Amino acid sequence: PLQALQDPSLLKTDALINGQWIVGEARFEVLDPATGRALASVPNLGAAETLSAIQAAERAWPAWRAKTAKERAAILMRWYQLLQQHAEDLARLMTAEQGKPLTEARGEVTYGASFIEWFAEEAKRVYGETVPTTDNGKRYLVLKQPVGVCAAITPWNFPIAMITRKVAPALAAGCPVVIKPAEATPLSALAVAELAQRAGMPAGVLNVITADAQRSIEVGQVLCDSDVVRHLSFTGSTEVGRILMKQCAPTIKKLSLELGGNAPFIVFDDADLDSAVEGALASKYRNAGQTCVCANRLYVQDGVYDAFVARLAERAGQLKVGNGFEPGVQVGPLIEPAALEKVEAHVADAQAKGARLLAGGTRVAGLGSELYYAPTVLADVTSEMLCTREETFGPVAPVQRFGTEAEAIELANATEFGLASYFYSRDIGRIFRVGEALEYGMVGVNTGIISTAEVPFGGVKQSGLGREGSRHGIEDYIELKYLCLGDI
Ligand code: ADP
Repeated sequence: PLQALQDPSLLKTDALINGQWIVGEARFEVLDPATGRALASVPNLGAAETLSAIQAAERAWPAWRAKTAKERAAILMRWYQLLQQHAEDLARLMTAEQGKPLTEARGEVTYGASFIEWFAEEAKRVYGETVPTTDNGKRYLVLKQPVGVCAAITPWNFPIAMITRKVAPALAAGCPVVIKPAEATPLSALAVAELAQRAGMPAGVLNVITADAQRSIEVGQVLCDSDVVRHLSFTGSTEVGRILMKQCAPTIKKLSLELGGNAPFIVFDDADLDSAVEGALASKYRNAGQTCVCANRLYVQDGVYDAFVARLAERAGQLKVGNGFEPGVQVGPLIEPAALEKVEAHVADAQAKGARLLAGGTRVAGLGSELYYAPTVLADVTSEMLCTREETFGPVAPVQRFGTEAEAIELANATEFGLASYFYSRDIGRIFRVGEALEYGMVGVNTGIISTAEVPFGGVKQSGLGREGSRHGIEDYIELKYLCLGDI
């Protein structure tokens, strides 16, 4: 699939440290989940290279922070424009290594690039404060300064956007970064880094360390242990988030964590049913169900339950599964065998406990690899089933019946997670009541798609710390400094 790149030099297969492309001694393969074939190999780096990237970032920091916000913004804007110009190649690289349909990959390139544009603009609006004095001999000022060297550890489900959402605000604020992309999707990260080089990013300001699953642990340990690294931003599982948080305790590092979700999707009797079904499809089956904001549990009120599950099953059955490069494909392969096994375990557990299978429920054979799973709808699900307690991260929609608004809220909040949630209702009073009662960082009302660079993305409870995107997204990369001027 990579033969057709318009600019073949975007297929970078080396890591980036201090503006130099590093071949590394050991290498590991990047696989195409649609075919199981190797696409390329990239360096399998470890502690020594991570330390040298941190040192490069530290050396690059004084000059980077000394640039005016407008100068940093100009480099970010050029980077943004390069992503736009090379959008088609970036989308192809992404579909090749991640598996999502090409139309979704194109959408992610636009979305990922939008964070760079947004934070290039925000760079110029990092205002400090003057505080009214309580002593006429003194004046109080608040300065905003970059925190210092930042580290970003990112997942495979959004190979570009999860990088730009962290790196753009860090760079805008005046911080250099060391990125450790997911082992499944380093090619997207390296292509984006190449474009940063072309945009004029100074050496050492943006570094990318590639490593396989095993060595990622070592790289993560070095990033956490370093007292030069002042901030760690991580998107991934809650389990790994806990490990990183613990590892960051000795250096009291600042943390931004975007962790697992278990999104409820509630359909009330008064919902527009067609709209609710389409919203559920979009939220559930996007990226084959592999996003942290995908609807994980659907709760449907008595009055519309039968109609909703029948319609959802019919529509899910119509989705086209296949290689993401094929026109019209809506659901690609899962990322790896372990992902497929989790999906199968959740479906088997639900069926054993009495759920009714209305669509899917099997692998799809003959498409090129073993990683395709049919869009699935399970009805008569209960809270005892694994699929309502854990994030399935696959194309499975478990639907549970409920009676009252209070019951729906209780079911929705009965989880340690609190990232995204959704509900459908046309009643303005209910929209406010339920919107306020859901213990989630984000609530979609009458929509299954909520993300955009302009709004704060993030979770409560064990779904994480901090917000990404929006005018708040740059704050994690900024320290407040209070200046007290005496002898006035
Ligand atoms: P996912 O379920 O999305 O694969 P993970 O939390 O396992 O999520 O992985 C997200 C990112 O965290 C990847 O870049 C992965 O390499 C990295 N990672 C996983 N375990 C560790 C660890 N112990 N230390 C540092 N990074 C890790």
